[in-house]
Amino acid sequence: MSATHEVFNQVDPLVDVNLFDGNRAMQDALRFNAPELDTAPLHALGQEVGSAEMQTHARLANVFTPQLKSHDRFGHRMDQVEFHPSYHALMTAATAAGLHGTPWGEGAANPHLSRAAGFMLFTELEPSTLCPISMSYAVTPALKDNPDIYRDWAPQLTSRAYDPALKRWKDKAGVTMGMGMTEKQGGSDVRANTTQAVPAGSDDWGQRFTVTGHKWFFSAPMCDAFLVLAQTPKGLSCLFLPRVLPDGSFNKLFIQRLKDKLGNKANASSEVEFVGATAWLVGEEGRGVPQILAMGTMTRLDCALGTSGLMRQALSIALNHTSQRMAFGKKLIDQPLMKNVLADLALESEAATALALRLARSFDRPGDAHEQAMQRLLTPVAKFWICKRGSHFAEEAMECLGGNGYVEEGGEGIMARIYREMPVNSIWEGAGNIMALDLLRALRKADAAAALAHELAPAKGLHPALDHMAESLPIRVEQMATEMEARRLAQDVALAVQAALLAQTAPAAVFGAFCESRLAGHWGHSFGSLGAGVDFDAIIARAQPR
Ligand SMILES: Cc1cc2nc3c(=O)[nH]c(=O)nc-3n(C[C@H](O)[C@H](O)[C@H](O)COP(=O)(O)OP(=O)(O)OC[C@H]3O[C@@H](n4cnc5c(N)ncnc54)[C@H](O)[C@@H]3O)c2cc1C
Repeated sequence: MSATHEVFNQVDPLVDVNLFDGNRAMQDALRFNAPELDTAPLHALGQEVGSAEMQTHARLANVFTPQLKSHDRFGHRMDQVEFHPSYHALMTAATAAGLHGTPWGEGAANPHLSRAAGFMLFTELEPSTLCPISMSYAVTPALKDNPDIYRDWAPQLTSRAYDPALKRWKDKAGVTMGMGMTEKQGGSDVRANTTQAVPAGSDDWGQRFTVTGHKWFFSAPMCDAFLVLAQTPKGLSCLFLPRVLPDGSFNKLFIQRLKDKLGNKANASSEVEFVGATAWLVGEEGRGVPQILAMGTMTRLDCALGTSGLMRQALSIALNHTSQRMAFGKKLIDQPLMKNVLADLALESEAATALALRLARSFDRPGDAHEQAMQRLLTPVAKFWICKRGSHFAEEAMECLGGNGYVEEGGEGIMARIYREMPVNSIWEGAGNIMALDLLRALRKADAAAALAHELAPAKGLHPALDHMAESLPIRVEQMATEMEARRLAQDVALAVQAALLAQTAPAAVFGAFCESRLAGHWGHSFGSLGAGVDFDAIIARAQPR
């Protein structure tokens, strides 16, 4: 009680809830993609990441941000990054949950789908620590093309132990890996890379190179090793560059400074220079771009998963707030126009979840031609569309909390953190235009239109707007859109696939409202403009996190 007034009509925060148990959209999507999936680990993770204790770690890791220790007090170079203990607690939890390299090592069924759901749940706790976790997950398909290095590093890459010490990989219980492509003069167009790699003999790990140059963005520089692009005599090549060399000495990788970023605060992103660093060739010399894109494909999946997780988190907080807060004589959630906003956000969140998890399924089925075709098509589509919707979504969910949504309050303002995080998933790993242009490349494959038609077929006849879109899309694909039309095509493929998935995973109220708004055009340009006839209460009840 304050001396001047009583504090009332403020809400209890959403803590100590099981984030998996409350997420019906995720549960139904998992049942659709792998009916036999063992969800017990996700239930346990949902409990952990929803706990007050872990949320405190998330706040502290973002308030006490990483600090670069370039030199010790005697002037020796250190090139280390210091983190708050809460960062290490988050990394320990993510690694123990098997969100990094584990799916490549353990023989469980549907490892990628299961890990994808876990990644989404963990995003609701803290997304920026997931940057090195994601890169450590993504590296395996590319790294396998140097079988000698992969054989030596796989046990630590797949282990569930987190070990932050800067030591030789074989003296550690677990390792993390990052990637270095972007230079000052070009990020999307990596062909502009100027970093040079000069042949320096060979050893147990194959062809060795001496690397000199820089990377302008180099996230999680305390990782144990990186895949980097550099120009060898045969052109741009993919190289494996460890921080500590096999003889125990430090590699010549120097951290210049850490980036001062809009969000993603708990993650250290750096600028680095290589001054005669040692690295080994991965894959074919001169074919570095396709080689490292095997890694990029998987981090793009994680961008879609991560944004879907953030959407779900923002929606849950908005529902929690509006279910308690009164205005004009009613709870906000009972005000008709707020119902429209919340239901519209719920549709977007569920559609994102459905698309991201459907894409993840394809990584569990490498021998299935349709799954591989959809992986190629849906990776740029999901990365483009889900991430593009993220910032707008966060802004609207924040507004549901009114002024409280905009307040940081020493890191307590989770909505503000979500809002600052959203744009990065769209920018890194190929920004929006790059993803839309990549879709055009994917569509050049002969079977792309047929694969898309096959994917949409189960929803045929269920809604006229989806039928219309499903009929027109393969024709547009076959006529090949121009670059100018690529974003619109990526958007329409995303919406059609999302609608077809919702037909199979969601109640009729969700599917119908999604088609009416996103496909039939009964919708405005902002959230909260669903048309009449929508069962708002059913959509909102399904989305409630408790
Ligand atoms: C926080 C953070 C961490 C990062 N960490 C890493 C990391 O660890 N490793 C790493 O290698 N990189 C990292 N990046 C870099 C990131 O991947 C690049 O910023 C991104 O790929 C874009 O490259 P760029 O910044 O050079 O922009 P540019 O390539 O200059 O692109 C600018 C804009 O132009 C658009 N564009 C480019 N080409 C075309 C075209 N042909 N037609 C139409 N539009 C086009 C792009 O879509 C983009 O919107 C990180 C970035 C951030 C923000």
